[in-house]
Formats: sequence, C-alpha cells, structure tokens
Amino acid sequence: MAAPLRINGESIPPGTSVNLELPLPHLYTRTPMTMPVYVRRGKRSGPCLFVCAAVHGDELNGIEIIRRLMKRRALTRIRGTIIAVPMVNVYGVIDRSRYLPDRRDLNRSFPGSGRGSLAARLADLFMKEIVAHCTHGIDLHTGGMHRGNLPQVRGKLDDEETLRLARLFGVPVLINADLRDGSLREAAAERGIPMLLYEAGEALRFDEVSIRAGIQGILNVMRGLEMLPPSRARRQPSREPFVARSSSWVRAPASGIFRGSVPLGAHVEKKTLLGTIAEPVGDRESEVRASIGGIVIGRSNLPLVLEGEALFHIASFEDLHQVAEQVEEFQSTHEEAIESGSERSII
Ligand SMILES: [Zn+2]
Repeated sequence: MAAPLRINGESIPPGTSVNLELPLPHLYTRTPMTMPVYVRRGKRSGPCLFVCAAVHGDELNGIEIIRRLMKRRALTRIRGTIIAVPMVNVYGVIDRSRYLPDRRDLNRSFPGSGRGSLAARLADLFMKEIVAHCTHGIDLHTGGMHRGNLPQVRGKLDDEETLRLARLFGVPVLINADLRDGSLREAAAERGIPMLLYEAGEALRFDEVSIRAGIQGILNVMRGLEMLPPSRARRQPSREPFVARSSSWVRAPASGIFRGSVPLGAHVEKKTLLGTIAEPVGDRESEVRASIGGIVIGRSNLPLVLEGEALFHIASFEDLHQVAEQVEEFQSTHEEAIESGSERSII
C-alpha cells in the first residue's frame, strides 16, 4: 500500500488525480496568489516524480511542456505519482521576469525559510509541500533573455542514478554541472533526490523542438523509472547521449551590431567563423571565432552587443563527430515531425 500523500493539508489517496492551489502571499492589490499543482497518483505504489517549470518566471517552454504532458493518456496508467508544478515562480510569470518582485533569483534561494524573504518563503513552501514527498525530480528551464539553448540535460552526472536518468531523457547533449549554491538542484541533492535540469530554448519564447523533446524526455524518464509501461513505438530513436568534456563561452571582441552565422547545434572547429560585429555605419567589422572545437549549445539572438558579452556557448566532446551526427539526427527528426504535423510520431 502506498504511503499517504498530503499536500496543503489535503490527503491524496492512491488512484486519484487532483489539481491543487497552494496559497501564496497575495499581491498589494489584494489579488489572491496561488501556485497551481497537478497530482496524478496511480493505484500501484512507485516512485514520486516532481516536474516543475518557471522557477525563473520568464522561462516558458516548461509551462507548455507540463500543460501537454498532463493531457497524455499514458498518465492514467501511472505507477507511483507525478506532481507537476508549471509555475513555481508565479510572481515572475506575471511580471514576465526571471526574478521575484524583490529582485531575488528563486534558484539561488533554496532550501529557503518560512521567515525569510519572499523568495525564501516560496522556496521553503516548494520544498515542504512538493519536494519532501518525492524520490526524483525534473526542473525545466530555458536560456536567458535573447539567448537560445540547444535542448540539453544538466545534472550531477557523477551520481549513478542521475546519470542513468539523464541518459534516458533522450537529448544528445548532457552537461555535468556543479551544484550551485541555493539552487533547487542542490537542495534536492541534499535530500538524496536525483534531479535533472532540462535547458532548452529561450526566455519568453516557445520553441516547438524544445517543447516536444521535453515531453518525450519526461515520458522516457518515467518509463525508465517503471512509472509507465515500455513504449509501444516500433521505431525507437537510436540516440546515444554524450557528456560534454567541458564548455566555454565566446565573448564579443568589440561592441556593435552582431550577426551570427552558425545556428544552435552547429559543429564548429577551433577558429571557425561564428559571426561578425560591425559598426552601425561604416566598414569596420570584427570577426567572432570559436575558441574551441565543439557543438554550439547556446547563442545570443540579439543583434546589439557590448564588448565582453557572451555570444556563443560551445561544448567540447571526446568524440565530436559522433555527437555532431546525433545532434543533427535529433534536430531533423523533430523538425520533420513538426512539419508533417505529427504530434505522436516521436513522443
Ligand atoms: Zn532558468
């Protein structure tokens, strides 16, 4: 028999689905505030997975990933429990901002405290009401404003279970990321909960490849945890993920108008021309060249740059050519599915 699950004082027995609203401090207009929580609990006991998004309030792909995920019929056959929270920083979502209204970064405020700042209180509530029940977690992020990320999974990959889940997710690029002070990932790790961070797309934008790869990744992880039966899809993608050896940012050598010439996912060699920076008028141009060989996993999409600004994020790999092939296959499979209007062919 599965253990009782209580969220916000409400008992959620096995075999039930509920949508909850966790009360939050209201706005100064007296507008009530809540954090929506979706719980799908199977009859059979099993892992408890939280999936959350918009810890940074302007990172929207994850909200859409959770919206579509919750509609999947597969979840009616779930073993264990999924707790989905599409907007952890709901204040930031209202403001279309990464931060909380007190300008704090929620992902530097974990595990938080019930008597601390607004960010600390929100973090504390999330830890106590959600994370405390869970055995595993997936946190959905995007790049920052005007910065796109190639779909990638970050995690503490020297932890065996985290690495296993990261490989199951099904994106070609994995990054072994150190735990940051105050991050949700650090707070989860301290409680022995393996957690993945999915980073894909750009703040304040939807990216269809990132959204689809995210839904598929969560379902893949749930199958790997035996929360869902194995996929019946005949054609399983033969993708082998690769862990980056290291990564580095290429910064603007000068201020000016930036034109990028390589897309996300591009395979570049050291010194490959990545773009140019020009004066608004005149002939003077500076070249932006790759500092290392690798795959472009992040890039700036804003043509206005100041000297020193980060423009391209390049990850290097042991076997770069193989990774490049996998990235190409990954992108073309998803793009073809989108073009053919097929929602299910790859998920
Ligand atoms: Zn983020």
